[in-house]
Amino acid sequence: MAILLLADHDSNHLSDQTAKTLTAAAKIGGDVHVLVAGAGAKVVAEQAARLSGVSKVLVAEDVSFANNLAEPLAALIVSLAGNYDTIISAATSTGKNVLPRVAALLDVAQVSEIIEVVSADTFKRPIYAGNAIQTVQSTDARRVITVRTASFAAASEGGSASIEAIPAASDPALSTFVKDALSASDRPELTSAKIIISGGRALGSAEKFRQVILPVADKLGAAVGASRAAVDAGYAPNDWQVGQTGKIVAPDLYIACGISGAIQHLAGMKDSKVIVAINRDEEAPIFQVADYGLVADLFEILPEFQKAL
Ligand SMILES: Cc1cc2nc3c(=O)[nH]c(=O)nc-3n(C[C@H](O)[C@H](O)[C@H](O)COP(=O)(O)OP(=O)(O)OC[C@H]3O[C@@H](n4cnc5c(N)ncnc54)[C@H](O)[C@@H]3O)c2cc1C
Repeated sequence: MAILLLADHDSNHLSDQTAKTLTAAAKIGGDVHVLVAGAGAKVVAEQAARLSGVSKVLVAEDVSFANNLAEPLAALIVSLAGNYDTIISAATSTGKNVLPRVAALLDVAQVSEIIEVVSADTFKRPIYAGNAIQTVQSTDARRVITVRTASFAAASEGGSASIEAIPAASDPALSTFVKDALSASDRPELTSAKIIISGGRALGSAEKFRQVILPVADKLGAAVGASRAAVDAGYAPNDWQVGQTGKIVAPDLYIACGISGAIQHLAGMKDSKVIVAINRDEEAPIFQVADYGLVADLFEILPEFQKAL
């Protein structure tokens, strides 16, 4: 049997979440078919076909798929499920919206946010905000899995899979699209950024956050993150929050400024390749996960760093 991988895309670009999920799918083993559902998503299907390890791309074009509404996507996947023993998606907001519905409709238990494939039916996943790793064996006939993509490298290009058009399933019409409220930014997107600089409660105000963190981010071409304390205090918008209830990131470089290192923050960034912490309290827990730690006042150090850059 084969694996059905739900592509993550915006109708123009296939996100690298798909290539990372493909690496997890390849470890499970079997033919991998990528499902591209959208309205006018042929260009995305072509990008998916070039990923190495994809044996077929299924493209379903219908207006009901234009905005990633979960109900029509779940209906489509369930209509195809008979041909697959594994249905997999990145644990993105779309994946986390669609796959639980698929699991419920198929009456199986979803295995969520895997970080390692042990074998075709056994996976590792974090629990208790990353404090423990659970090994889960699924005995369901059909496995429904979401993938924490920060734990997998992206599959390379070099494939030339066939592309097959398939019909949409009938739309259950349980939801309607109202609007997208996207924040426009020239900065890299947090979950795919190579460098992230994050600020915490120590920044003290939205104005100081902007004055101290953003110029360094601009010099580094970095995305900007924040602790929940900084977001709750209104220093940073909530789509910048990194952590258990924010975004899970794993950049090449993560610079934590004035962040204590609470377990809920670490849950979102401890897989970063190099962690730099700037904190004036040498006992701050962030130093336990940092590769480089600087015990200093960030209001002195960051302007100096900016000048040096
Ligand atoms: C269910 C739940 C979910 C949560 N989810 C998240 C989450 O997703 N993300 C998250 O971040 N938190 C989350 N939290 C909150 C978390 O527990 C912490 O409260 C939060 O991370 C603290 O943010 P902080 O490090 O910015 O603030 P603090 O803990 O107050 O730390 C501020 C740090 O700044 C340092 N400092 C102060 N002034 C300076 C200076 N001038 N220069 C340098 N250093 C300075 C201090 O020494 C201190 O270490 C969650 C909590 C719960 C209960």
